[in-house]
Amino acid sequence: MSEKPAIEISGAGPAGLAAALTVSAAGRHALVYERHTDVGGRFHGDFQGLENWTTKGDVLEEFAYLGIEAGFEHVPVDEIVCFDHEGAGRTLRSRQPLFYLVQRGDQPGNLDYALKQQAIAAGVEIRFETPASNLPGGGVVTEGPHRADAIAAGYLFDTDMADGIYTAVSDYLAPKGYAYLLVNRGRGTLATCLFDDFHNEREYLARCVVFFDDNIGVRMENPRRFGGSGNFSLPRKARKGNILYAGEAAGFQDPLFGFGIRWAILSGAAAGRALATGNPAQYEQVWKERLRSYHQAAATNRWFYERLGNRGYSQTLRRFPNGGDVRDWVHRAYAPRRWKRAWYHLVVSRRGAPLLNLHEGCDCTWCRCKRHIQAAGDMAGI
Ligand SMILES: Cc1cc2nc3c(=O)[nH]c(=O)nc-3n(C[C@H](O)[C@H](O)[C@H](O)COP(=O)(O)OP(=O)(O)OC[C@H]3O[C@@H](n4cnc5c(N)ncnc54)[C@H](O)[C@@H]3O)c2cc1C
Repeated sequence: MSEKPAIEISGAGPAGLAAALTVSAAGRHALVYERHTDVGGRFHGDFQGLENWTTKGDVLEEFAYLGIEAGFEHVPVDEIVCFDHEGAGRTLRSRQPLFYLVQRGDQPGNLDYALKQQAIAAGVEIRFETPASNLPGGGVVTEGPHRADAIAAGYLFDTDMADGIYTAVSDYLAPKGYAYLLVNRGRGTLATCLFDDFHNEREYLARCVVFFDDNIGVRMENPRRFGGSGNFSLPRKARKGNILYAGEAAGFQDPLFGFGIRWAILSGAAAGRALATGNPAQYEQVWKERLRSYHQAAATNRWFYERLGNRGYSQTLRRFPNGGDVRDWVHRAYAPRRWKRAWYHLVVSRRGAPLLNLHEGCDCTWCRCKRHIQAAGDMAGI
């Protein structure tokens, strides 16, 4: 290991651990601060989907190329049943996995656990119960979301139901979002993912339980509530001197449906590599090349999706060709296009200011310290 100082990372989520692994692979010491007692503290063992549609190639191959091992349990999903608001279901299939079902949390087999184990084996130092609020020597900020553009609320449970992947698109169940039920080997996750009307999450979740029970027959043993939020506001820049922002801390997240794991790992790895090779400025170029056009396309898709309403969701679902490949369909829908970029700039991006307010000359991991305001006051003699 080099004698150079450690590269510091705040947050041991997928982005932070991917950053640490690339730092370590480049021969530098990585020091990760994590505020919780273990990894995956924001999650509770819920099932999530590692998307495999934004590129033609497989996501796990892309991870392998970055040095991220698929040491976590990952169940390839090539069939899902999608319901509309009236309970009409369509079974959508793909030749290659549409996504991989993974479990989040600190238990063996979970994504976060496996990344932690790989990082420790690679010599990464992780300090738990150590929140970082400053990175004076620079580093990577991967603290997860700092605001909620969408929320998910649901139940984790044990069950004797058969394995299956179900979704429902209905504003009655999940305004501008979707509901999902994922069952694998005796465990289940049922949730509503809302992009609007967050205050009524309990009501929507209750409706989801009834809906899936009516249409599939849900058997929940030992149900536990879980929930969380997602943040996806494309920043103008994700770098403040030697501090690089990655994963959801930067707003890198799929704005259409909230599939952020892949984006977190890609951006974390890119940030780690840029710092370890002494070229932090390169990070801006890399995330813009790899993620920005996808973000703009997905945000534009969301703009249209939010205007569909129940009948529009239903019609879109019906338009899926019989015998078609859902992965190809979704891949095309997510593909960056020139018109989507134009729409993004003309219409979508005007809806809100970018989240990151990166005032230069401050080493805070999160720019809410108001030190810059004081600095401005000092200059003005206040
Ligand atoms: C309920 C739910 C369901 C989801 N489902 C999916 C899905 O199916 N597919 C998908 O791809 N994505 C999904 N997502 C999104 C996905 O989980 C995130 O995009 C991804 O975890 C982001 O990774 P990250 O490393 O940026 O942040 P996180 O995973 O949030 O990790 C951030 C880490 O930083 C730590 N931290 C925070 N502040 C500090 C600090 N000051 N100092 C030190 N440590 C700190 C936190 O404790 C945490 O461990 C879901 C999200 C939620 C909430």
